[in-house]
Amino acid sequence: MNASADPGEKAFRSHAPGHWPEVPPEQWNDWKWQLRNRVTTLEGLESRIRLSREERAGVILSGNKLAFAVTPHFFNLIDPNDPDCPIRRQVIPRMEEASVAPWEMADPCGEDSHMPVPGLVHRYPDRVLFLVTDRCASYCRYCTRARVVSGVGEQELHTDFEEAFRYLESHTEVRDVLLSGGDALLLSDGKLEQILRRLRSIPHIEFLRIGSRVPIFLPQRITPEFCRMLQQFHPLWMSVHVNHPRELTTEVKEALWRLADHGIPLGNQSVLLAGVNDSVDTMKTLVHKLLMSRVRPYYLYQCDLIRGSAHLRASVAKGIEIIEGLRGHTTGYSIPQFVIDAPGGGGKVPLNPGYVLYHDQEKVVIRNYEGKIFEYPEPPAAAPIAAPAPRLCPEAASGEA
Ligand code: SF4
Repeated sequence: MNASADPGEKAFRSHAPGHWPEVPPEQWNDWKWQLRNRVTTLEGLESRIRLSREERAGVILSGNKLAFAVTPHFFNLIDPNDPDCPIRRQVIPRMEEASVAPWEMADPCGEDSHMPVPGLVHRYPDRVLFLVTDRCASYCRYCTRARVVSGVGEQELHTDFEEAFRYLESHTEVRDVLLSGGDALLLSDGKLEQILRRLRSIPHIEFLRIGSRVPIFLPQRITPEFCRMLQQFHPLWMSVHVNHPRELTTEVKEALWRLADHGIPLGNQSVLLAGVNDSVDTMKTLVHKLLMSRVRPYYLYQCDLIRGSAHLRASVAKGIEIIEGLRGHTTGYSIPQFVIDAPGGGGKVPLNPGYVLYHDQEKVVIRNYEGKIFEYPEPPAAAPIAAPAPRLCPEAASGEA
């Protein structure tokens, strides 16, 4: 099944109050009300939309895998008349989650084996991932950290904050800290400020990042006060997570603009998902709306080999086809890097369409987005290329971890 682009998805729209017509705007716009009123039960779900047999079984089974919870804001994006709605595929559990293939893993990125301190992942030389909470505003059925996120899976997250800060103070090679979880933006302003202040007091930490889906699931959280708190800690960047154009509502766009207005550079990390965003048209609409929201599309991830995610995984070929359909056809700023997080902890590996057709010490033969072939001569004194003999290069990979 390929996601198709609905022309109506190009516009930024508000879906409020949707299923909650009785709720006054001041409550609706209160992020704590949104969290208290999440849809978390089968009854809550069935009172609003008709479930398929697969979804009903999925909700019942989700209790000991990854909790089911959706904020009212995000719930309103579900099309109740479309059983294949790309929003419901992301957040409503399905029976297929119970089918686990031999190559699927609880910890597909090998984070647990790179954890010198509980809650701190140190896999790359100069940067760390700091898991500051196991809770999210809503839960994505393909979550790569389903083993700890939401508190009902097979492991528990017990981050040792003091030990993590001591580790960071003594590891002067760490210059970049990414706060994630769960979702760091679910912490109170005070708690998050405390963590950021402590990190900023470590002289060798240059760069702070937060990975968050809260601006999308819970845009009400991005208050002016919250943005003012964050802007004390620059350079502070944020990676958000949007998969489908419908997620970019009026409220989400305003929240993203607020963050950008407070000097926070924004990137987006999408996961390639079958039936959600596995088409060039859908991705093109998404990346255009991201630019309009002042967010640079950063990564398109091949879905990790998380247990019970086969029904959501699109092929690698589909990801390459999407990049091919964007590169040259639209603004370069809008093109994410397609990557696979190498199973077991090998880090991100960039994948690109095969633009390099031939490469030796004298020349490179390339093709452009229209399929036209060009030759570019290497400088006469160029160092020998890595391969000793002429070769066909299936791909020109460039990117970053
Ligand atoms: S928001 Fe991120 S951490 Fe939370 S469930 Fe979704 S993918 Fe997992």
